[in-house]
Amino acid sequence: MNTRKRLAAMLAAGQAPAKHVAADIASMANPACVIGPDQRCEHALVDQELNRRLYVYEQRVRGRFNAINDTLKVISSLQHERDFVARAQNLARECLGYELPQGLLDDAWVTGLDLRALQAHCVFRSFKESVDQAEQDQAPWRERMTLDAGFFQSCGFHTVDISPCADGRLQGLLPFVFRFAPNDAVYVKAYAGAMFDVESDVADWTHRELDRLSGGIPGGEEANYLKVAVYHYSTSNPCQQGCAFHASNDLHAVEHALGRLNELRDAVENTFGRGAAPAILMIGMDTDTDALRIHVPDASGVVNAHRYVDSAALYRATLGQSRDAARASIEAAVSAAEQAEGWGHGMGACQPGMRRLILALLEANLSQIEYVIQHHAGRYTVIGHDEELICAGEATTHVQLRNMYYYAHLDTVEEGAADMDVGIKIFTGLNLRHGLAVPVLVHFHYSSRVPGSRDRAIQRCRRVKSAIAARYPQLDAGGQLYCQMAVSDLHGGERLGFIEDEVDNHGH
Ligand SMILES: [Zn+2]
Repeated sequence: MNTRKRLAAMLAAGQAPAKHVAADIASMANPACVIGPDQRCEHALVDQELNRRLYVYEQRVRGRFNAINDTLKVISSLQHERDFVARAQNLARECLGYELPQGLLDDAWVTGLDLRALQAHCVFRSFKESVDQAEQDQAPWRERMTLDAGFFQSCGFHTVDISPCADGRLQGLLPFVFRFAPNDAVYVKAYAGAMFDVESDVADWTHRELDRLSGGIPGGEEANYLKVAVYHYSTSNPCQQGCAFHASNDLHAVEHALGRLNELRDAVENTFGRGAAPAILMIGMDTDTDALRIHVPDASGVVNAHRYVDSAALYRATLGQSRDAARASIEAAVSAAEQAEGWGHGMGACQPGMRRLILALLEANLSQIEYVIQHHAGRYTVIGHDEELICAGEATTHVQLRNMYYYAHLDTVEEGAADMDVGIKIFTGLNLRHGLAVPVLVHFHYSSRVPGSRDRAIQRCRRVKSAIAARYPQLDAGGQLYCQMAVSDLHGGERLGFIEDEVDNHGH
């Protein structure tokens, strides 16, 4: 019997795969898809059309970054030509879609072209292009996604508040891994190690409750708030490529995410009374394959570290089944988890709405598993960091793609110093080693409804920017650190508006 059949048989019999089978799978290049040479990995429940549209989107966004180095190489080769500036700008417009800063081109014939500065500038501009074009770029897949605000309502949730780890590999979480359409009911706030801030979450919960009670959320009367924590692990290199915040200790990552979720429930219950607590859900993500472990809550909403359904195992077990049979298998796997004995034991089956959400999420994730099979041979070639820039301050959520940027969540540099140091360490390998600078986007939100808010956000950017320069003086003095400040309106007016320095652009 081949591995897939063996697994399917085990799953059907409700057994966990034996250790040696699990090890076999972990060592495979294409772990989700174990089939014979003449078979294809095409699962009946996968939305091929959606996968195609997401791939076009991914190619478009990555293309804006991939073109930078080649374009700059050509421009560099022209720097001593008589009509250099005009030719360079033509090339930039044609290949990158924007112009380069005139000042960096004008003096090239004397001082040589500052390619490091240009490269950093282009990274920021390409990122801004991707934010500005987000509506148009994303329209084709947005319209095809079914897990939207209406669907969450039908599961009994008026708000889905998600805190993944800030690791860049989780940035494609919503559209790719979860297949959630961006909508007003979904919020994402990433934290290192998924260690979200309980006080700030109680504040978010209170805001949404106020909205709901004042009739601001259509159909929200009977619905609840759902908090989701997403930890991550690496099946092919668990000790090196797991969650850096938890030193790649998976158990640690799980227990801490669960700890925070329970603290949030306690905080709301202790403050607003019994029964007020939000529903909670914990999900693990394999950053090598984008597969999920969904921890199935019991009847009273209690989440257990040992009670989960693994979508990679489901994909393998149901490949080749009809749509109906595969759906029945997914339901059976959730039921099996609900009836788990031992460490995973829970008190009763999970709430119907929560169950509906879990089933939909497991099914949606099969499409992503197949996406990774089709475009990345089942497991990402770069299983670690490969980000384009560091985003410090508050994250912008308009572009959601794996490894787009490393995110250092910070209000002040003192507080976020550890996150920032990790970012600089990552970019020492990614950029400095190749002679490139570290591009840091310093970004904060403001509310256009609050007088003076934008100015305060700009002041915050300036403070954080100079604190970053002060923390890494050698990089800054050596032209190896470029900071671009930007602010966005919470109400959608201004998106990533670049703020220029009062003195010059280079942070000196
Ligand atoms: Zn992490």
